[in-house]
Parts: sequence; structure tokens; C-alpha cells
Amino acid sequence: MVIEYLSRETLPEDKADRLLLEKLLEFKKKGEIIYIDPQKLSETGLTVLLANHLFGKLSTSNCFVIDKDIPWGKDDQCFCDNKSCKMTGHFGDTSVGNTEVWHGNPSIIINNDLIVESMENLPGNFEEGTEAPEVKVESDVLSGNAHIISETIIFSFLQKKLHPERNHYLTPCIGVGNSSFIVMFYDSEHDVFLESSHIPLFRPCGVNKYEFDDAAILASWLTVNYKFLSSGLTEEMKTFECGFFKEAQEKIKVYEETLQLGNVARIVPVPDFRKRSLQWSSFIEETETELIGIIHREKKRMKHSETDRQDQRSN
Ligand SMILES: [Zn+2]
Repeated sequence: MVIEYLSRETLPEDKADRLLLEKLLEFKKKGEIIYIDPQKLSETGLTVLLANHLFGKLSTSNCFVIDKDIPWGKDDQCFCDNKSCKMTGHFGDTSVGNTEVWHGNPSIIINNDLIVESMENLPGNFEEGTEAPEVKVESDVLSGNAHIISETIIFSFLQKKLHPERNHYLTPCIGVGNSSFIVMFYDSEHDVFLESSHIPLFRPCGVNKYEFDDAAILASWLTVNYKFLSSGLTEEMKTFECGFFKEAQEKIKVYEETLQLGNVARIVPVPDFRKRSLQWSSFIEETETELIGIIHREKKRMKHSETDRQDQRSN
């Protein structure tokens, strides 16, 4: 769709496609700037900032719910440095799962269909009522993280239950840590698990000024709009079964039929699913590389036509 637009400069006919593409183009055009060093934010602060400044803005709707137990007392004020920046999301109940099987409270849920998890919100990483720790996590802690894997699997089963009408149930989940993020995917129909590589979030563009990396913008746009933009697994990918169906066979009915979003008791501690052998997914990177190439070419082209116009005016 993007390639079509940039090569021919025509907006897609389909209304939903057009709206999605406009979101991306508008975001690129405005050039969102963050006036705070991301390294100075806690991981949770960074995750909320991303929901407000990146994921929400690229999505069709900018509603999101932040786990109400995350320590933060400033109601609707964003985690960035701009005191007048308000959050388009709110604090609330993000519980998901079923007490009979895996359940938990993800950091953020965007539009009821995408989990964004902060490395800091992992079980045991902070005690309730205390300030979020300032310790930075190693970025490779994200990769193959059992807690995020658990959330990804649960959420795919939940989407299958809530939206049986969808063509596929390949559901992403974003993990944020150390100025980068990864995207994990699970397909609860074919038992396939995929993980992206690390995607850098920012690049400096002045003193205490940061803009989002093109790779982050594109990967986020593809991920937050997966309902519309993802066509599911390819036939080749369907062969990469991860073995969860077998592992959970005794409780598979619970996963298929009784998972909930919201109102899941927090009291019962629950071990995460085991770390599984991951299939490294290259499709996001391949699409990105192609798109980034085109965007750079377009930027140059726009600069040229701008200079041409100035030349014409001065003549
Ligand atoms: Zn902000």
C-alpha cells in the first residue's frame, strides 16, 4: 500500500486503507519530537510515553489502558517533559487470562487488541507503592522473555474467542526496554510463535531532542494496525509449530473458551510459560528495509522539489 502510494502518489481506494496510510503520512510529516533523553526515563515511563506519542498516534484510535497498579500519580499527564502534554489513555484494569491457567496484568493495552509490555512490569520487578526503579534492563532480556511470550499466547487465544470472524489469529505483542522494542507474534490456530529482532526507537536530533527512528515508526504502524495490515502466516511459516498445544493439552479448552479481558483476579501467582525455541521472523525487517528505502528516496525528492520552487521564486 505504502509502496503503491509513494511510487504512484495515489491514495488507496479502500477507505480503511486510506485512513491507515494517512495516519502514517501525517505522523511522518509532523515529525514528532521528544524533548527528553529516553535514557532518563524509567522503562515504564518510556512505555507509556510510546503509547501516547507513537503507538496511539499511528493507530486508528488513540485509546489505551495503563495498568492501574503502575506507580504514577499525575492522572492524565504524559511521561514526557512537556507539562501540557496530556495522555489519550487512562489507568484501569488490564487483567487478562483465566485464574485456571495463565493470567496477568500487562502494562498497557491499546484499543483492546494489542499488549505493550514494559520490561519493568515483569513479576517481582517492583513492589506496589514504591517508585519505579531507575535501573536499565539489558535489551536482550526482551528476546525470548517468558512473561511476554505468555502474554502473546494468551492474547492470541483471546482474540480468537472475541473475534472469530477474523481471517487469522496471528496476534502481536510489543515488548519495550532500553530504548528499543521487539514484537512477538503467536497464532493460536496454527500454534506458531515468531519474534522480531530489536528495533531501535529514537535518534538524537539536537540537544535533548529525539525523533523516532524510521524503523520504529514503520514497525509500530504495521503492528498497531495488524488487524487491517497483516495477512497472517504464510504457508511456509505454518510449519514452524512451537509445541504449545501439546504442552497445554489438558487445559486447552480453558484457553479456547474461557479467557477474559478485565476482571481477572490478581491474587493467584502464576508461573510463565516456558521459554520456547523461537523462529526468527524476518518479514517485518524485509518490509521495513524496502519501505525505509522508499521513504528516504521520497524525502530527497521532496527536498529537490522544494529547492526547485525556491529557485523559481528567486528567479
Ligand atoms: Zn508527552
